Amino acid sequence: MAEAPYDTVLQNFRLADGGPPGQRLALKDGRIAAILPADAPAPPASQVLDLGGDLLLPSLVDGHMHLDKTLFGLPWTPHAAEPFRMSRIATDERLLPSLPLDTAARAGALIRRCVANGTAHIRTHADITPAFGLSALEGVLAAREAHKAAATVQVVAFPQAGVMRAGGKPMLELLDAAIGAGAELVGGIDPCEVDRDPAGQLDGIFAIAEKRGVGVDIHLHEAGELGLFSLLEICARVRAHGMAGRATISHGFCLGGIAESKQKAAAEMMASCGVALVTHGAGSATMPPLMLLRRAGVRVFCGNDDVRDTWSPYGNADMLERASVIGWREDLRHDPLILELFSMVSSEGAAALGIADYGIAPGNPAHFFTIAAENIPDAIGAHPPRKRVFYAGRLVAADGAWGQAA
Ligand SMILES: [Zn+2]
Repeated sequence: MAEAPYDTVLQNFRLADGGPPGQRLALKDGRIAAILPADAPAPPASQVLDLGGDLLLPSLVDGHMHLDKTLFGLPWTPHAAEPFRMSRIATDERLLPSLPLDTAARAGALIRRCVANGTAHIRTHADITPAFGLSALEGVLAAREAHKAAATVQVVAFPQAGVMRAGGKPMLELLDAAIGAGAELVGGIDPCEVDRDPAGQLDGIFAIAEKRGVGVDIHLHEAGELGLFSLLEICARVRAHGMAGRATISHGFCLGGIAESKQKAAAEMMASCGVALVTHGAGSATMPPLMLLRRAGVRVFCGNDDVRDTWSPYGNADMLERASVIGWREDLRHDPLILELFSMVSSEGAAALGIADYGIAPGNPAHFFTIAAENIPDAIGAHPPRKRVFYAGRLVAADGAWGQAA
């Protein structure tokens, strides 16, 4: 018997562009082999799946995670930290090593939640501190390896306890070792507030990035003019090191707390230097002006940040729910704006993470999900459970849960 030309043919679904009904998606070797028109004869395939008329969307991208901090996999654990950044850092160092589940097990539990919610690509920060050394990174890398058939995980070596205040040179050597051990980007954190030595931290981490040929993703929580100062210092170094397109500022709360004229100037600087912004719509901080940034040409993407962890008890690792939170905070009501919002949890995130061949098109990896929604605004607004999640053409989650439905 001749070999079937396709591994799987999917039928009875709708694409986001509202294209003609009756199209079929033909998958082979983990990729989208063809999008067949409705009037084409049914092709032979090893497997034919009827998707029940659901909307089929490209996999989601979570651009800011902390897989190593999550408490998923454990019974409910009451929040233990005081409401200050430094007390949360201290709680991490006290609590995380004493948990009955190790980093790999907890990170794996969170990756599976991400996948169940239709996410295929994750950028996570892993704590690199004098207390933890490379142990959190090693746990995250083990979880990544165990789930490589369901998602990609990009890791930032994150100096959660600071760089200069955490020892300076030995801390920079630890970050460099983290890149050698498998992290793909160098992180940073509040170079003024945490380190009180912006040049020390930023020169140090950019030197590692240059030496290793990797990007940077820097947590910047600093408010107002102080944060703007740090942001411009980061932009200057991105330009000086020729790192356009490989630099991200996480949060950038300061952009929401300065005069509009300064917002515009900062946005133009970020765009001209190739510095992206990732946001999670923090409830307790000023929001960066996302649309102003986008109109200036800044790449803006989204992530969940802390999900049921030592920093926050909230969240379920759902990027559609996260999009609805961000849209609600940013007052994005009209459909065209909600479609832009979707790009920030999908294609813009993929571009920021350097994911090639992203989207529903022939030749691309078959990463997508289905959802019982009329269209993208409905999918974000109501964010019902993902019906089916495919990674490389394989069903990896169904009905909102990891693994295939019974
Ligand atoms: Zn973070």
